[in-house]
Amino acid sequence: MTEPMLRFVSQPQKRPTKRPAIKRRADFKEIYKGFSIAQAEEQSSRCSQCGIPFCSAHCPLGNNIPDWLRLAATHRLKEAYLLSSATNSFPEICGRICPQDRLCEGNCVIHKGFESVTIGGVERFITETAFQNGWVEPNYPENELGKKVGIIGSGPAGLACAENLRAKGYEVHIYERQAQAGGLLRYGIPGFKLEKNIVDRRIELLKKQGVIFHLGQEIGEGPKALSFDSIRNRYDTLFIATGVYQARRAHVQGEDLKGVVKALEFLIQAENPEPDYNAKGKKVVVIGGGDTAMDCVRSAIRQGAQKVTCVYRRDRENMPGSRQEVMNAEEEGGIFHFLAAPEAFIGHESVEAVRLKEMRLGVMDANGRRAVDPTGTHTQLDADMVICALGFDPEDLPSKWNEPKLAVTSWKTLSVKDQHYETSLPGVFAGGDIVRGASLVVWAIADGRGAAEAMHKYLVKQAAQEIEEAL
Ligand SMILES: Cc1cc2nc3c(=O)[nH]c(=O)nc-3n(C[C@H](O)[C@H](O)[C@H](O)COP(=O)(O)OP(=O)(O)OC[C@H]3O[C@@H](n4cnc5c(N)ncnc54)[C@H](O)[C@@H]3O)c2cc1C
Ligand code: SF4
Repeated sequence: MTEPMLRFVSQPQKRPTKRPAIKRRADFKEIYKGFSIAQAEEQSSRCSQCGIPFCSAHCPLGNNIPDWLRLAATHRLKEAYLLSSATNSFPEICGRICPQDRLCEGNCVIHKGFESVTIGGVERFITETAFQNGWVEPNYPENELGKKVGIIGSGPAGLACAENLRAKGYEVHIYERQAQAGGLLRYGIPGFKLEKNIVDRRIELLKKQGVIFHLGQEIGEGPKALSFDSIRNRYDTLFIATGVYQARRAHVQGEDLKGVVKALEFLIQAENPEPDYNAKGKKVVVIGGGDTAMDCVRSAIRQGAQKVTCVYRRDRENMPGSRQEVMNAEEEGGIFHFLAAPEAFIGHESVEAVRLKEMRLGVMDANGRRAVDPTGTHTQLDADMVICALGFDPEDLPSKWNEPKLAVTSWKTLSVKDQHYETSLPGVFAGGDIVRGASLVVWAIADGRGAAEAMHKYLVKQAAQEIEEAL
């Protein structure tokens, strides 16, 4: 069985083809083409089938990567799909947008002397082939269990939890304040990384499976909102997966000038922007060095900006985002100004320039991150639009939902019991960014799946108690 494998020595790594930068600058379509069947088999056959697969250990879902690579390399694509989808609710999405260089591929054993197996590209290929062949079906329950589950938030954590609980036979209701489901998969991550028809396809499967969506329905405060208390009383158990949406401020002079905008507000309307969010013809400065900042740089380029400069306080090696995304941004024309932080946004009514303080790297902290200190020198960049991409914090849910017993950490993320996903409120579970802080889609899926198991155990126990009481 291993005969067609171990080809990393003779077969070079090939990544899925990217559209030329000049073409992709002009639209918001995905930049990668999928593998052909020949490419997928060839690239899968590079796997060394090592005894301890570090790729799996560094995949938050623990995907059985070497096994589905072997199946893909030996033309057994349906089995490859069944195996890959057994641990991942949305493999075609992860294959596209996981930062593989920091997760599975970055830990591939052959990566020490050769280039890693292109795991993400193969994962996407396997699932797309499954969709084309009609192998992807709604995960229907065998029996209805007569218990109701409420989920607040329809991002990847909420959707993964819904799929797993519905498959077990629960009546699942998702409450989402936006008009459409998907969370940041739809309202955040740009189309050039993930086209929205890929998200729609999954939502349709969930609807067919019987998951009930209540769209445009806020939980919490506001005239049309449902209170947390009323939702809690309506369901046997609840899952909170509301993400993190409070944009961090730069805390510098001039932050309220016209033309200084928040990253997510810019990204949400990037393909059809209001004038204040349109970078066309403008000199744009993006502040931040994570994946959101890269998405802003690349969206501003697509809108037709005159020049886009990304300012980051550390250096290239210490950027928090995916290397691949930085490379894509540079290919498309983004300029990077490292070791600098904004000191003031300058202008009368509208922003005209950004004054920067130059920084140098200091000592490493306990997490291995280098501190930064100002060098004392300053520079200035002309700007008629500044996009702040400095990260996100959670909303204060206990006050917003009038539920002081809902325990939070010092970061205002929800506290959950280790590995059990249960909050301080019995029967109320939580996962995804609202627990981890701004994180990754694959971690949100892992939490959604893990919480579904924990909620199932809770409901089984509850049912056993009910039977005991009735006897
Ligand atoms: C611009 C951007 C780009 C990113 N790119 C990547 C990437 O390339 N790869 C990657 O892995 N990760 C990426 N991420 C991170 C990833 O999107 C998140 O980690 C992930 O979406 C978190 O999932 P979630 O389900 O916890 O929350 P979310 O996706 O944020 O979903 C939460 C949902 O809850 C809803 N909601 C919130 N409060 C309420 C309420 N009171 N009532 C009803 N509904 C409510 C929200 O409207 C939202 O739909 C990116 C993030 C951003 C901002
Ligand atoms: S889910 Fe993400 S980390 Fe896991 S194998 Fe797929 S691409 Fe790699």
